[in-house]
This record gives sequence, C-alpha cells and structure tokens, in this order.
Amino acid sequence: MAAAETDARGWDYVTYAPSGETCSACMKPIKTLEQVHRGALERQSGAPVVVYRHLRCRRG
Ligand SMILES: [Zn+2]
Repeated sequence: MAAAETDARGWDYVTYAPSGETCSACMKPIKTLEQVHRGALERQSGAPVVVYRHLRCRRG
C-alpha cells in the first residue's frame, strides 16, 4: 500500500469551497456549494496554503 500522497494534517472544519477550487486528494474540481474539508498545508517558505477536499472523497 502506497504512502499517502496528501498529508492531511490539520483539516480544520467542514465548509463550502469557493468556486473554482480543486480537491487536493482527487484533483477534481469542487462544485459550487459542495461541502468540503478545509485545511492548510504548511510550506517551508511563504504562508500556508489553504486546500479543500471533498467531504466524501473516495481517496480521502
Ligand atoms: Zn476529491
């Protein structure tokens, strides 16, 4: 079994993604008003990046 490609540390809460966002797990567009997990990925340089993941993403 492969290691997780997405390090999902610190998923904050369930919310609605802004339009035009993409699921960080399956890389598919998130529909408007679709519920998602909101999270932040820390980067070594710069501010954390806010990412979204389908609430019931099959890769989650
Ligand atoms: Zn997804």
